[in-house]
Amino acid sequence: MEGLAELHTHLGGSVASDILWSLAHEQGIALPVKDYSEFERLVTVSDPRGVANLDALDQIYHWTELIQSSPIAVERSVHAAIGGAYRSQGITTLELRFNPMKRNRGGERDLDHIILAAIRGLDRASLEYPQVRAGLILMMDRTFSAEQNSVIVEKAIGWAPRGIVGVDIAGPRPDGTRYDYRQALPMVEEARAAGLGVTIHVGEEGGDIGRDEIGEVVEVLRPDRIGHGILAAGSDELMSALREAEIVLEICPTSNLLTKALRDEDAVRETFRSFVDAGVAFTIATDGPEMMHTHLRDELELLRRIGALDEDELAEANRRGHEASFVRAGRLMPRV
Ligand SMILES: [Zn+2]
Repeated sequence: MEGLAELHTHLGGSVASDILWSLAHEQGIALPVKDYSEFERLVTVSDPRGVANLDALDQIYHWTELIQSSPIAVERSVHAAIGGAYRSQGITTLELRFNPMKRNRGGERDLDHIILAAIRGLDRASLEYPQVRAGLILMMDRTFSAEQNSVIVEKAIGWAPRGIVGVDIAGPRPDGTRYDYRQALPMVEEARAAGLGVTIHVGEEGGDIGRDEIGEVVEVLRPDRIGHGILAAGSDELMSALREAEIVLEICPTSNLLTKALRDEDAVRETFRSFVDAGVAFTIATDGPEMMHTHLRDELELLRRIGALDEDELAEANRRGHEASFVRAGRLMPRV
């Protein structure tokens, strides 16, 4: 297989625990633990049986985002994540996503400094690993106000020439009820008009609510890609809508198992077979390799082992990742 492509990985889940440990100490962040192995349990999904639900995962993100809440920490995190992905997995197309407003200590740090620090990390990694096409996605949040989310999109557009390649929405539903994705339409349209890619976290969990949300996202937001979208599997209506809109799903099998979004490997296999049979396009990702204790090659191996995808289908999913990336060739440095 050629170089691998990974399009769905969160900065908060992509940095090795030892680096986060050092960053926490360098910044004097008060941690609830004093021992490194306890820290590792704090910042990763350490129990192989996973977490109880997405709220429990958010508790882990709370710590990694807090530790990444400074320009220097963001720069080092982006740099480490890109270099690590290339060195250990041979990933040559990589998109890293993060919410800058969850890294500015409630407005105490300047947002542009945080974003520019991420771009510096990207630039440093590009110098060291010119084989890698990498880009950054800025995330809006379902718990944020429309004003906050529109600031994030404005920043994404402003810094697009420097390596911000897309926008996303993630985070828990504000009060457990269905999230109204239509409120994001003005931001999504603005981002699209500016040439940014659009990917939306939806249809990861939530049963019928999650399925309704997928339908709404496909119809109203028309994103290029969807993060997860696994609840569409088995629904002829949703799968044909995805196929017709040519939306690429970013599927993260181990993450879905750890959060109980998919109950077991049989469910993973059924999900993939549904999408293959219905002609829905997808690519494979980890959601955050360090936090999930998995890497892209492990994901491919899992899918191979459980008979979810054969060799050709795995290669196709990887090719799709390179193709569906928001990183344009123009972003690469001129080679002289
Ligand atoms: Zn995700």
